[in-house]
Amino acid sequence: MRITRDLPIDGNQRKRGIYLVLLILGGVGAAVSLAQNLLSPYGATGLSVATIATIVGCAVLAGLTFWRRIVLEQLERVLLASATAAVCATIGYGLYLAPVGGPHAINVAATMLWIPLLFVFCAIAFDGLTSLRYSLAIYVLVVALTLPHAVATMPGTGVMDGLFFTLQAYLAYAVIIIALYFFSDIQQRAYTMEETARTMRRLANTDALTALANRRQCEEQLTYELRRAERYGRVFSVLMIDIDHFKELNDRFGHLAGDDVLVDMARRIERMVRASDLIARWGGEEFLLLAPETNLEDARRLAEMTRHHIDTTTLADRHRVTISVGVASYRGGDTVQSVVARADAALYLAKRGGRNQVKVEIVPAPSV
Ligand code: GH3
Ligand code: MG
Ligand code: MG
Repeated sequence: MRITRDLPIDGNQRKRGIYLVLLILGGVGAAVSLAQNLLSPYGATGLSVATIATIVGCAVLAGLTFWRRIVLEQLERVLLASATAAVCATIGYGLYLAPVGGPHAINVAATMLWIPLLFVFCAIAFDGLTSLRYSLAIYVLVVALTLPHAVATMPGTGVMDGLFFTLQAYLAYAVIIIALYFFSDIQQRAYTMEETARTMRRLANTDALTALANRRQCEEQLTYELRRAERYGRVFSVLMIDIDHFKELNDRFGHLAGDDVLVDMARRIERMVRASDLIARWGGEEFLLLAPETNLEDARRLAEMTRHHIDTTTLADRHRVTISVGVASYRGGDTVQSVVARADAALYLAKRGGRNQVKVEIVPAPSV
């Protein structure tokens, strides 16, 4: 788990932008260091060559990043490897190769302050365990580079400061690596739990066969629409759709063929209706279509369109079926049960009337 997680496209874009800025800053930093090295009486040719290489490297990487010629993952690896190499080279040079008496001891100490940044970078660029492995590798490298020098210089001078500074740095690095690892581990757990909760919520609301909303979600949505209709004086309609003689299809072609028809029908009705409508699997071969902001007449037209579409379509490549539809609209004082019951009663009339037809609930005449 990276502490930045996998970001969406625009997030990756931003990451790319940040790396670009870092590369430019790195190049500028190296240029300043080059100037200092050239002007200093302790200036070293090797160091100047390394700094120039850094400037060129930063410029090339910035170009590749800007023109998207490098994928982020590769860029992160290259950046980490070069930053580690630069830090180790600076420390190694300062401790073992630089002329004694210059500002190199301070340079080494200053460079050691920047090492935690490498661990942070590992945590940003890699998953939990990989990040830990890279961080430990860098840690071992730094210890191998600095400990012999700290131990070797101590006895001659009788001064223990260098050794204690080094040991403190090791301790601080260890604390940072452990903290980063546990931080990202906790974040990973929270993320996994969030994912699981999301999946469970989706499964609890979805019909396994057709992937439509299931009855539970449909009832929830009906309740919501009912409250909205009550509160704001809006209207909505309910279409109860039932496949005609579905048992016969199952008996003739088998249950699996029946399943295929259900799935295909679900897809087709889903494609026909508005995005704001909800089509749900209400029960076995019954679907409920909830049409917000739709009055009884418009709902009847929608039902007729759906009936006609199914009547003229071959489902799952080989089956022809028809549907009967009962339509009801919200009336003041309705409950979810009462409006669904009226749609059901209308569906019953459609079945009684010979199937493959739409029936609308009977609207009571206004009392005088
Ligand atoms: P009607 O025209 O009166 O609606 O007749 P029908 O045969 O469609 O109605 P009935 O209620 O007698 O039978 C419903 C059938 O739907 C019986 C059942 O096996 C089938 N069914 C329910 N759920 C599923 C399912 O998930 N898959 C399949 N393949 N069939 C199902
Ligand atoms: Mg049926
Ligand atoms: Mg039925």
